[in-house]
Amino acid sequence: MTLMRFKALEIAQNRQPVKVEFPSNKISDYYGANVFGENAMRQYLGKEAITAINDARTDGTKIDRKMADIIAAGMKQWAMSKGASHYSHWFQPLTGATAEKHDAFFEPVDATSAIERFQGNALVQQEPDASSFPSGGIRNTFEARGYTAWDPSSPAFVIGRTLCIPTIFVSYTGEALDYKAPLLKSLHFLDTAATAVCQLFDTNVNKVTASLGIEQEYFLVDEALYFARPDLMLTGRTLVGYSSAKGQQLEDHYFGSIPDRVMAYMMDFETEAHKHGIPLKTRHNEVAPGQFECAPQFEEVNLAVDHNQLLMDLMDKVAKRHHFKVLLHEKPFDGINGSGKHNNWSIITNTGVNLLSPGNTPLNNQLFLTFFINVIKAVDEHADLLRASIASASNEYRLGANEAPPSIISIFIGSQLTKVLDSFEKKNQDGANDTAGAIDVNKIPEILLDNTDRNRTSPFAFTGNKFEFRAVGSQANSASPMIVLNTIMADRLVQFKAEVDGLMAKGTSKEDAINEVLRRYVSESKKILFEGNGYSDEWVVEAEKRGLSNIKQVPNALAAYTTPKGMEVFTKNNILNEREIHARYEILLENFIKKVQIESRVLGDIANTNIIPAAIGFQHKLSQSAAAMKELGLPAESYKVAIDAITEAAGYINTIKTSVYKMVEERKVANKMENHKDKANAYSDKVKDYFDIIREASDKLERIVEDSYWPLPKYRELLFVK
Ligand code: ADP
Ligand code: MG
Repeated sequence: MTLMRFKALEIAQNRQPVKVEFPSNKISDYYGANVFGENAMRQYLGKEAITAINDARTDGTKIDRKMADIIAAGMKQWAMSKGASHYSHWFQPLTGATAEKHDAFFEPVDATSAIERFQGNALVQQEPDASSFPSGGIRNTFEARGYTAWDPSSPAFVIGRTLCIPTIFVSYTGEALDYKAPLLKSLHFLDTAATAVCQLFDTNVNKVTASLGIEQEYFLVDEALYFARPDLMLTGRTLVGYSSAKGQQLEDHYFGSIPDRVMAYMMDFETEAHKHGIPLKTRHNEVAPGQFECAPQFEEVNLAVDHNQLLMDLMDKVAKRHHFKVLLHEKPFDGINGSGKHNNWSIITNTGVNLLSPGNTPLNNQLFLTFFINVIKAVDEHADLLRASIASASNEYRLGANEAPPSIISIFIGSQLTKVLDSFEKKNQDGANDTAGAIDVNKIPEILLDNTDRNRTSPFAFTGNKFEFRAVGSQANSASPMIVLNTIMADRLVQFKAEVDGLMAKGTSKEDAINEVLRRYVSESKKILFEGNGYSDEWVVEAEKRGLSNIKQVPNALAAYTTPKGMEVFTKNNILNEREIHARYEILLENFIKKVQIESRVLGDIANTNIIPAAIGFQHKLSQSAAAMKELGLPAESYKVAIDAITEAAGYINTIKTSVYKMVEERKVANKMENHKDKANAYSDKVKDYFDIIREASDKLERIVEDSYWPLPKYRELLFVK
């Protein structure tokens, strides 16, 4: 029998790049063609309807049912002109992916005739049979109803033959069961809190918008090889696999030329993305072989999140045409870089000022430092929540491993700003009188940033005019970290404003009041600032001295949501209530348990049905050859190599066999646990312990078993065959 691995290799090696069709040479000709945006609205809606949608977008004004009917009719007409026959509410349940349930526009009138209909109530609300979405116990089975509600701030789009309407997803009793609902609340909260602070500086500011640019990393493997790896297929990562002799050591892949097949794929999904209004601009190879990155122009956070969710979906769909499988998992391969989703975040006023952009006048600088220092303080206060927001079974393999930010949350701000903050704080300690080198923020005319001042090892870095949260996992929904970041920042700004107002009420001037509060914030939170190498062991020690947490296990990281401090910042600001937080926590724990459970089962399966049999087959061949040599009367040393190899293999086989057995026993114990937290801990501490032991023995076998016996595509094949 030929092994599937060799068939797959033959197929993969003979592939040609797929020809890509472009709607036009100019992207601007088709950009947003599948989106019900400004152009489509002007064509299919009246002035009043457009105003209603725009008001809902900017101020959250409600759209009444009559208006919804008018909008639905226009939307349907437009969608049908794009070939749509169905519509779907498109939402983001806590499972991480997006969900859709399609309904036809078509409605039968009698036995032989029908019409296409789409009314306001179908646009505004839908009741998906949502009983199988995770609800963390909020909905019990006999009340298994949740509903989705239209989010007019994110435009509808057509994908394939379906009109997709971005929606929030809530339980029948009104609790948010998705990412979008709390994200929208957190954005509104940030807008209100930041606007109030801006008013201290400029009364023309009446709206503040958070922006997000998401850099997306991913791996590509040939589809045939992918299907020959049950672990990749079922868990998204390789559970075994001996490192390729050549990996990323030479760093020759980074910014290298893009292989033709990959290039065709990139251009194809970019075209799809552009048609769907996703402003992709950048593409390049990443450090690891087979790893790539794309990034759009930044957008308003809610839109950026929706676009990233849609992008991941499009990337997956388009990959099929090119016989690739796109791996969005954070750590598909051991020993080489994992993938992240860098979240570039900034806040911008309606007057066009980026509040995280250092200004060139003293006044702007005080405004900048106000927001800059408040971010630092917020992250310092709630580092554990940020850590929780990026915790997942898959991201855990990446954090702190091979060029990924560690589990310790710290902020990098660059040498210049470090100097500015030092000096600013010093003035506080030494009194208001002239101190050599001390800076009064009001007096510095311009902060000049050195653009080369970069630190790739920091999980949270200031990069000139934005913060970049790099610890976010590549397959994560960015809404999760954004909910936390917006909320803790807004909460901080509310407190900052109250403190400044308090001082001003006592007669302190506005400038002095702001400086006084900011100075204290710098002193209180500077322990979170770190400029050194975040990947080093020294940092782990240093961080511990500073009292920063280094939470490695997912269940422990998630626990931050349920501490009194973690809960309060959400409940007091009406972002999430207690029931919602507990539901989320339970869902995330359950998700973790299931992911590890699946990995454990798959690992057991491939160990028993692929790896051990391959090794035994190889042992058999060796023993036959040794027996033949012995029979020929050859001296023992002539078949010693064979005997040694048989013995060595036997050792690894036994290790695998007994470890799989013990792992299954641990799983049985864990599965009996009722409490999710205990169960998650058992999976994290007990079950997962065997992964490395089994892997190590399997990888050693891979090194000695004859190549033609090895059933699973090897790392060198997965990474280099394109
Ligand atoms: P890199 O980090 O790879 O050098 P950039 O920092 O230039 O790349 O941009 C990465 C992402 O950050 C892009 O999506 C870009 O649109 C986004 N970005 C740039 N400026 C801002 C900003 N002010 N706010 C939010 N995102 C931004
Ligand atoms: Mg960047």
